Amino acid sequence: MRFHMDTADFFVPDGLQDEEALKRTTHLAISAHQDDIEIMAAGPIIECFQQPDKWFTGVVVTDGRGSVRDGMYKDFDDEEMRRLRFKEQRKAAYVGDYAAQVILDYPSRVVKDAASRQPVEDLGMLLRLTRPQFVYTHNLADKHDTHVGAALKAIAAIRSLPAEQRPQKLYGCEVWRDLDWMVDDDKMTFDLTAHEALQAALLGVFDSQIAGGKRYDLASMGRRRANATYFAPLGVDSTTGMSYAMDLTPLILDPTRDILGYVQEHIRRFAEDVTARFKRVG
Ligand SMILES: [Zn+2]
Repeated sequence: MRFHMDTADFFVPDGLQDEEALKRTTHLAISAHQDDIEIMAAGPIIECFQQPDKWFTGVVVTDGRGSVRDGMYKDFDDEEMRRLRFKEQRKAAYVGDYAAQVILDYPSRVVKDAASRQPVEDLGMLLRLTRPQFVYTHNLADKHDTHVGAALKAIAAIRSLPAEQRPQKLYGCEVWRDLDWMVDDDKMTFDLTAHEALQAALLGVFDSQIAGGKRYDLASMGRRRANATYFAPLGVDSTTGMSYAMDLTPLILDPTRDILGYVQEHIRRFAEDVTARFKRVG
């Protein structure tokens, strides 16, 4: 197994041989940055936690060099920051019992460059080695360029596979912009009632980001709670935590389908929902 970047990081928490570790994967997440996976993919992480027949693998595409830093980390240079973020991502993989954790180590600019094929090729190799049933990445209405770039690389990598090797489902998850705005029929939901303390622990290992000035831990747990309560205006809460995803599966079932047009259909349905309510009561 060779990645384009010699410095890519590969970690198997339980020490199984690399390709064996990957082969057991059933749920695969592909994110832009260290900590995005734990923010957006808590659903599959807890679904696989301690299950003999379900395994979660995380893939982070970028190198973490551009991370915001403050407090005890404020004097870290880019390379020190990169090493720290790799260490934190390994900690999360250990806490969450992941099958494996990969960091492809690309600068953000490569991920945002539509012409760069190397991340697509690395992801394609990992998809062939893992053959996951379910894949999770950023949603396509996210407001961080690198997140949308990473999602587009993930879609391109899946589309490069023969149809019978593609995953059954592709989910676009919440980080920089939640998906509460989507009409309910478009929402894929993950029940995050279970393992609340584990979810908090997975977010808490990223101390460089949290102590560095952003309370992603509180914000992410708060978003899950808010989603659970605000999901249905009528009826009592059926969960204490929930996250949403955009169903990106149609984009991998039909590799020729226009990606921007697909996102815009979601925005159009939101606009129509607001308009229809006004027409009823306005
Ligand atoms: Zn991110």
